[in-house]
Amino acid sequence: MSNFHEPNQIIRPEILALSAYHVPPAIGMIKLDAMENPYPLPSALRNEIAQLTVDSPFNRYPDASAASLKTALRRALDISDEMDILLGNGSDEIIQIIAMAVAKPGAVLLSVEPAFVMFRMIATYANIQYVGVPLTKDFTLDLEAMLAAIAKHKPAVIFLAYPNNPTGNLFDADTILRIIQATSGIVIIDEAYHAFADASLIDSLAQYPNLLLMRTLSKLGLAGLRLGLLVGRHEWLMHFEKMRLPYNVGIMTQLIAEKVLSHTDVLLEQAEAIKSERTKMYKFLGTIKKIKLFPSDANFILFRIPAASQVFQKLKQQKILIKNLDGTHPLLENCLRVTVGTPDENAQFCTALHTIACETV
Ligand SMILES: *Cc1c(COP(=O)(O)O)cnc(C)c1O
Repeated sequence: MSNFHEPNQIIRPEILALSAYHVPPAIGMIKLDAMENPYPLPSALRNEIAQLTVDSPFNRYPDASAASLKTALRRALDISDEMDILLGNGSDEIIQIIAMAVAKPGAVLLSVEPAFVMFRMIATYANIQYVGVPLTKDFTLDLEAMLAAIAKHKPAVIFLAYPNNPTGNLFDADTILRIIQATSGIVIIDEAYHAFADASLIDSLAQYPNLLLMRTLSKLGLAGLRLGLLVGRHEWLMHFEKMRLPYNVGIMTQLIAEKVLSHTDVLLEQAEAIKSERTKMYKFLGTIKKIKLFPSDANFILFRIPAASQVFQKLKQQKILIKNLDGTHPLLENCLRVTVGTPDENAQFCTALHTIACETV
């Protein structure tokens, strides 16, 4: 008789209870489900990147401090010298570092619902208690509920995405500042969609010692590279830095990100194209009576439509992949989320949706 245990005797129960983060297969699909930038880099820039690859010392570990890349980020994102930068393998990894760092017994990680699902998932990985405060029906912050939850749970950390995913809206900045002032813990503002919004809380960093800000290159056109960053005071980042695995940002990510950041005009032009497509899609979708559109400052649009799951399936049959949020949260009943793609992709989506909306009751 063997005396070793089954996985379910060894693995933590909350991990056994999880279902893995599901990424649907997308080969041959018009892929409008993951907030990717649909545009490739210009070929001259791609050739420069190819040359970087040829010349790279792959046999060596990457620069553990990524000093050169950080300098480029500082310049491109206009980050003050007063603030430190921590780099992650995507901002997901930064969320994980923060959650692990603050996960004392009984500590709470607080966010809103619906929000980016990784806040809750990573809280589970890091063994920290998660509290999700519901947004209002129109997805604004419920300040009273937030203040009550802060008083009750005394969260070590609060995560707020600005603009929010999956809803697309910017929360009211004054309300966020009230929350920052009310909590004794840290507040992480996740600005993954900054390029598509005309707002940022980066200028508030100097004023609030418990405020930290996250950005990522993923939604800007470099999702495949995996690079996220946290900006904040040295007093906080020096501790998170100790938990960062030494070579978490690989050599190609460092070199390519630095190269592309020396051409930020390219990324910003693409973001502008996405924003103007977003406006066009709003106009078109607004003509479909059954659809309720929610405002977006991101590169995606959330909408409500009767029989959303059926609509989602019909789009999928036509090789158009968006995100079905129906059933993921009570406030998202019959909601679908579409990423803004190329003009051609968006036109195909809009036409297909229009036809489906006319067919279904
Ligand atoms: C997509 C997304 C991220 C993930 O960014 P990566 O840098 O690709 O890990 C983080 N936060 C929010 C709110 C997102 O929507």
